[in-house]
Amino acid sequence: MAAKKVRLRDQVISLPAYVPGARPRGTMNEKLSSNENPYPPLPRVVAAVSDAAADLNRYPDMLAGELVEAIATMFGLDVDQVVVGNGSVAVLESILAALCERGDEVVYPWRSFEAYPIAVAVAGATGVPVPLLPDGRHDVDAMIAAITPRTKAVLLCSPNNPTGPALTDAEVRRILAALPPDVMVLLDEAYIEFVRKQDEDEPVADGVAILREDPRLVLLRTFSKAYGLAGLRVGFALGRSRLVSGFRATSTPFGVNALAQVAALESLRAHDQLMERVDAIVDERERVVAGLRAQGWDIPEAQGNFVWFPVGDEAGVLARAFAESGVLVRPFAGDGVRVSIGEREANDIVLAVAAEYRDSAI
Ligand code: PMP
Repeated sequence: MAAKKVRLRDQVISLPAYVPGARPRGTMNEKLSSNENPYPPLPRVVAAVSDAAADLNRYPDMLAGELVEAIATMFGLDVDQVVVGNGSVAVLESILAALCERGDEVVYPWRSFEAYPIAVAVAGATGVPVPLLPDGRHDVDAMIAAITPRTKAVLLCSPNNPTGPALTDAEVRRILAALPPDVMVLLDEAYIEFVRKQDEDEPVADGVAILREDPRLVLLRTFSKAYGLAGLRVGFALGRSRLVSGFRATSTPFGVNALAQVAALESLRAHDQLMERVDAIVDERERVVAGLRAQGWDIPEAQGNFVWFPVGDEAGVLARAFAESGVLVRPFAGDGVRVSIGEREANDIVLAVAAEYRDSAI
């Protein structure tokens, strides 16, 4: 008789691996593969963290009360409308754990953030990926058409990682209008601070404004990008208190560690200074996008801290060309290459490699 073995869930066995941006090796000296903020934490943030280190024998505040209060104040919401977690990925997992039962469907755009299919499967739900439009935007009509009586939630990503476009107010409202009252919409705004598009006819969706009107909308935010705290792992969600209390119930207890809590709080206090850095990154993004387009590249609207090369099957070859110049980027097989915006010198190398690649391809 075959020996019995501990069996993992089938859904877990077939999970795609989350592939993080590798650390630069050998001659690689520019890491532009994980959409990180190129600037180190502000000295006042480092000082707050080192002060807090003296109390590491104690558990942190379980619900991160002071941080939650500061976030609520910033958005003009109640404290019971905010839940924090160990990065926004962990918050996403607790949201899906609170919502999904076996057989429930979660609709999301694809290609988008690679944690979505994994988090949906971990929650025991069925993922329904909906291909993006050729210009890297969400295919709103197709997402609406994908909704079935089993749909529990729709995930939206604005700006979309890895392609770059932001969702418009009209697009988010159209999705909400098409959904039954019991389907939640999670708008992932990980890169929202980098959005600069100003189009009076088609304004970018203001998640916080829509949240006030529609109880089905939940926003996902992070301290990893604009606030530059990726290494400490702090993310949060905003939504109606009835939902948020469910998300808290499924979160890991003490999920945001003590150092992360003080660093995030100090970063909120230094908000203006950090947003000046965001402005500098946005200026660099605009310079890189304009330079690439002038070289003849077809670069979609870039509203995050990264640019997307939609090169399809050439993704691996283009990523190798960057690697040979010491720049680590993120290829997505069959789709394209995502390159984060770094400091000026790194971006200059990106422009030079892209120009050379195009010249050799023509
Ligand atoms: N959402 C999107 C769209 C992202 O690209 C990322 C990070 N790459 C996250 C969420 C996760 O961020 P965090 O570090 O807060 O887990």
